[in-house]
Amino acid sequence: MTFLDYAPAPESTAILTLKPSYGLFIGGEFVAGRGSPFQTISPATEVPIAEIASANAEDVDDAVKAARLAYETTWSRLSGADRGKYLFRIARLVQERARELAVAESLDNGKPIKESRDVDIPLVAAWFFYYAGWADKIDHAGLGANPRALGVAAQVIPWNFPLLMLAWKIAPALAAGNTVVLKPAETTPLTALLFAEILQQADLPAGVVNIVTGAGSTGELLVNHPDVNKVAFTGSTAVGRAIARSTAGTGKKLTLELGGKAANIVFDDAPMEQAIEGIVNGIFFNQGHVCCAGSRLLVQENVHDEVVERLKLRLSTLRVGDPLDKNTDVGAINSRAQLNRIRELSTVGEDEGATRWSPECVLPEKGFWFAPTIFTSVSTSHRIAREEVFGPVLSILTFRTPAEAVAKANNTPYGLSAGIWSDKGSKVLGVADQLRAGVVWINCFNQFDPASPFGGYKESGYGREGGRHGLAAYLQAADTNSVATITQIKKAQSK
Ligand code: NAD
Repeated sequence: MTFLDYAPAPESTAILTLKPSYGLFIGGEFVAGRGSPFQTISPATEVPIAEIASANAEDVDDAVKAARLAYETTWSRLSGADRGKYLFRIARLVQERARELAVAESLDNGKPIKESRDVDIPLVAAWFFYYAGWADKIDHAGLGANPRALGVAAQVIPWNFPLLMLAWKIAPALAAGNTVVLKPAETTPLTALLFAEILQQADLPAGVVNIVTGAGSTGELLVNHPDVNKVAFTGSTAVGRAIARSTAGTGKKLTLELGGKAANIVFDDAPMEQAIEGIVNGIFFNQGHVCCAGSRLLVQENVHDEVVERLKLRLSTLRVGDPLDKNTDVGAINSRAQLNRIRELSTVGEDEGATRWSPECVLPEKGFWFAPTIFTSVSTSHRIAREEVFGPVLSILTFRTPAEAVAKANNTPYGLSAGIWSDKGSKVLGVADQLRAGVVWINCFNQFDPASPFGGYKESGYGREGGRHGLAAYLQAADTNSVATITQIKKAQSK
């Protein structure tokens, strides 16, 4: 069969005016960093985009002081309604500058423009709109009597959804009345710095949000600063563990959003066309750089061959290449280090006896690329079935009964998300109930909504982001455990 090819459809970068270098954003101004600056590059071409300042201990201290001052003199004195006005303003400015932010995100991260344009940036605006609405309702949110802000929040985020992770962190923190020092990941600082410009445009009082760029050592300085009251971290389980150790006994409130190895369970009665799309979205969206990616496909044995055949056909139509091309489905791997890890684990997969397959695709010569890959004949003991690859690599396993599916799905140190595909409601609900995962998607995958809490079990971390639960993480005398569930409320009402 011959397919008609797509003509190139590159998104224009003319909308984006970048400075050659960016400072730290402290006290409402861009200031020089005292550490050694570094380049942020396009992972698709390896071409430098801009020089970025690096914050040392004094810079981090300045940022925390600015946040403390803003907390005491301005932000904690504003009414919730006034805080909400700033958040609404930020949300509207994100919408106004959406195209520019999408281009910057795809350039710096390598993700396809259709994802940054249609998923990341609209969700960023949605997150600010949602929490803007909460700002004047905190007292009535069922989060305890007179809930109060914690003070200064130290926030450290990863590179896979740079601006979206920033929104997940900053929007609830500000709505609840905290001030913030945030450190973006070293490979994707660009949109956080454009966001700092948006804060200036929004006239947000100086010091309410501070952004310090730099490597992991800057993050370490920030979370260990003695004057922060709250630490919110999204990233790898290894770093999360180190942060949990270093903050233990300090009185800092901590939430951790860490790695995952989600099971995507397909039963033989699943709506097959949708399931195939869901499997593809589950693992190849954002090059598989997704903490909740459906990286372990559990297929009922009698439909295994059909699923694999359909999947191969679908993968053969994916277009891998220029992130700024509107037709691209799979973009660049974010960094050389991540590419090396994906390559290494894929080689281990073959060495351990799994069968590797990728569609034919020509990868660009420059930049960091990895073809969509599936492994069949995978067993639960294989490293590719246990460890987070964090790339476009799917491990396929089989099961016979719902009980076996549940046992295999839960056989992981992680517990962030899961997917279930079946036409039978009672089976879906029965299985969902037994899965040890923070989010379970039914006949869909990777659906995000600011009103819906997100977070993990076990080594995927603790605490919830999103929804009312996400506010609790930034308030005193309220934690996620004190948020009454609908079942609890109904029980109380029926007494
Ligand atoms: P990472 O842990 O290496 O880095 C994350 C951030 O922490 C970066 O900003 C980094 O500079 C900083 N950092 C590194 N060492 C630090 C230290 N000792 N102290 C403080 N900060 C430090 O993770 P990564 O490779 O950037 O991101 C990928 C990981 O993030 C994956 O494991 C993925 O599953 C996870 N993730 C989880 C979620 C979630 O919501 N659960 C969302 C996105 C990504």
